[in-house]
Amino acid sequence: MGSPSLTGVNEQAGIPATVPALGVPGTGSAADAADAAEPAEERRRPALSPSRAADFKQCPLLYRFRAVDRLPEAPSPAALRGTLVHAVLERLFDLPAAERVPARAKALVGAVWAEIAAEAPELATAVAEELRERGTAAGPAGPAGPTDPPDPGETPQPGESVGSSEPVDPLPGWLASAEALLDTYFALEDPRSFEPQSRELLVETELGSGVPLRGYLDRLDVDAEGGLRIVDYKTGAAPREASEARALFQMKFYALALLELRGTVPEQLRLVYLGEGGEELTYRPEAGELRRFQRILEAIWAAIREADRTGDFRPRRGPGCAWCAHRALCPAWDGTPPPYPGWPELRAASTPAGSPASPPVSGPGSASVAGPAHGDAHGGEASSAA
Ligand code: SF4
Repeated sequence: MGSPSLTGVNEQAGIPATVPALGVPGTGSAADAADAAEPAEERRRPALSPSRAADFKQCPLLYRFRAVDRLPEAPSPAALRGTLVHAVLERLFDLPAAERVPARAKALVGAVWAEIAAEAPELATAVAEELRERGTAAGPAGPAGPTDPPDPGETPQPGESVGSSEPVDPLPGWLASAEALLDTYFALEDPRSFEPQSRELLVETELGSGVPLRGYLDRLDVDAEGGLRIVDYKTGAAPREASEARALFQMKFYALALLELRGTVPEQLRLVYLGEGGEELTYRPEAGELRRFQRILEAIWAAIREADRTGDFRPRRGPGCAWCAHRALCPAWDGTPPPYPGWPELRAASTPAGSPASPPVSGPGSASVAGPAHGDAHGGEASSAA
């Protein structure tokens, strides 16, 4: 699998598609955070992704803002660090096995960051400014703060000191904190000892019921017997119960997609947490539970389409509002949302002639596996995922 292309920008995070897109909010994961975006993908057929499914469960209006309106969101420094680390881990396996050592990985941190700063200087500036603000002002983020709930890995890191009034350049410390996560990675596994089958793998399929699924796996390993192992990197610490459920939701999503695509239940779902000393969580799914999980996804998708039919994406206030980037537009916070723009695929009708066509999905049961067109936020999901 080749390196990701250098085109496109993460729609929500404004991150160059050079690097994995942000995944589920707060995880710093590719899959989670953010959904990879590239201009052509806006015209792609909407699909369900783990992040957007989680959004809808949390707050239908948040889902609308992200998946339908596709309002931009600035990433928090922690989320961007997650993207950076995911990109480094993806590229690490481009190196010959013997060269996959900490020093080479840390050298990639600077290289990938340089690409981000070159392709999206405004993003680099915004993150640097936020780091400086955090260095002089403690307290929870408000409407203009991070868009994602705090992840265990979002505790202050070098370069993110809270309460100091000394003006310092926070960037070196922030990059060092990314390198520290890589140290943890190397303590958990030796990348010289295996070859992944895929990295930043786009999994795209359609359930028999017609529900389209799309997402990116951080890594897919295949053992000598053909057993599949889905690996997802998390740049936070091992989760509390709620976060663990969310991570497991994401992994079951990918397992179900692979079951559809390859006709086999993955042997292992492996979550690699790089924060706070590191920890691995593994899970062995069964076909029966994945099919039950499929019914959950179908119910979520049905609810999404019903909300689209009525235009009724209701806000649901909760703890996550503290990190919502769209409070100013939210009726639950005395805001006014923009007029409902309609389902994204309807916008395809206005796509200029000659523009790239949406990838064909030929009906129930159709499926494809491909490398990402960008190199998203890890385990990330396509921006067009609904
Ligand atoms: S502020 Fe809260 S209720 Fe409003 S859209 Fe965001 S998450 Fe939903």
